[in-house]
Amino acid sequence: MNITVIGTGYVGLVTGTCLAHAGHNVTCVDSDTAKVRRLQKGEVPIYEPGLSEIFEDVLAHKQLTVTTDLKKGVDTAEVIFLALPTPPSADGSADLSVVLSVATALGPLLKHYMVIVNKSTVPIGTGERVAAQIAANTDISFDVVSNPEFLREGQAVHDFMHPDRIVIGTESDKAKVLMQGLYSSFVETPDQLVWMDIRSAEMTKYAANAFLAMKVSFMNEIANLSEVLGANVDAIRLGIGPDPRIGKSFLFAGVGYGGSCFPKDVQALRHSALKADYDFKLLNDIIEVNTSQKKRLQEKVLAYYKQNINGKRFAVWGLSFKPDTDDIREAPALGLIDALLAAGATVQAYDPEAMHNTAEYFGVRAGLSFADTAYEVLDGADALLVVTEWTQFHTPDFADMKHRMKTPVIFDGRNLYALADMQKAEFYYASVGRPTITQ
Ligand code: NAD
Repeated sequence: MNITVIGTGYVGLVTGTCLAHAGHNVTCVDSDTAKVRRLQKGEVPIYEPGLSEIFEDVLAHKQLTVTTDLKKGVDTAEVIFLALPTPPSADGSADLSVVLSVATALGPLLKHYMVIVNKSTVPIGTGERVAAQIAANTDISFDVVSNPEFLREGQAVHDFMHPDRIVIGTESDKAKVLMQGLYSSFVETPDQLVWMDIRSAEMTKYAANAFLAMKVSFMNEIANLSEVLGANVDAIRLGIGPDPRIGKSFLFAGVGYGGSCFPKDVQALRHSALKADYDFKLLNDIIEVNTSQKKRLQEKVLAYYKQNINGKRFAVWGLSFKPDTDDIREAPALGLIDALLAAGATVQAYDPEAMHNTAEYFGVRAGLSFADTAYEVLDGADALLVVTEWTQFHTPDFADMKHRMKTPVIFDGRNLYALADMQKAEFYYASVGRPTITQ
């Protein structure tokens, strides 16, 4: 099948690459000329495990091409995927300007029947708006399909190749046949293709993300209460996770959720509810809990130093919003570093993939530096703050750490270390929802 993917970010590039790998002819279109140039040279501009290898392969075999020319992408396409940004507006609603402007541009370019598949996360009713925008500029028939994306950054290639389900919203039999042909090789059983109307498909994506965000906020509340009442959230997680009604995933207490999806999607759903005159109370609490959870690590640090961290030197491990990605959008580390610097401390940060993005985010900022290894940032540090649970931080050499640090103090926002190990290694160790080791 001839497929065009518009937008080559985390979703679009993975979609295009995996569809090309499955044997389709894929054209990727992006308006960012610099990004397109890099991609044309075989350079993948984001860190996503396994993506570069497959991308280089499909590019070399001409199963995938990359262009800035929308017309070129539309001419031969049978299916067009929209994988465009839908960032939050100031009022929390999803900004649809890019999606709708591309829809407007598509109309005059259509030459034959086509299916336009929306992969961007969009408010309920957007499919109809996209269709109206296209129809305003063409007499050619087309269908708009909603196909929300559930891939996880860091495991995106695996998730696209082996989805647990594929949600497809369409009322058109013609589109259904095309979508079935496109996706049947990616599923093991037909019931993994979940068919529904467009509005329900759009809502499904928001429901999934809001539900997962709710699990995170719920466990963070349990953790905070555990700290007050002397319980251990890790034990509680192990105690409730095996219940299949609850499930083991997303039960880890920490520094709050971040990333390009949860924060904006929960807010956008709340905005949609408000617009429909529905007060979705739970969403307010999910957001409020997360906002305060993102500040808890810095509050613990400040409390430890009696509200004065002026001149202190902190090592930070982890900048991306989660491991295995270079994505720092809404990452808890950003607010934390900002607060530490504002209070007069210095920060030496290390992340295996996200230092470049973080340096770009902060620009030249007095007191902030980066190092090539996790251990280097510990040199002379008053304390270590663990913010992202990259695998390489899981089993460090505590003796070496202690040797490098000025004082053996760890504030762990991800509960990476066993309390007994910290006791044995003689660290002051504060984590989330667990007793603090004070030595
Ligand atoms: P992204 O910002 O990484 O990528 C968007 C791409 O679109 C960029 O390369 C940008 O240059 C390009 N673009 C912008 N305007 C354009 C235009 N007019 N024409 C062509 N290209 C244009 O975004 P993303 O993370 O891939 O997310 C895309 C959508 O998918 C969003 O709605 C997001 O909520 C949703 N989503 C993201 C994830 C994720 O993990 N990142 C998962 C599921 C769903």
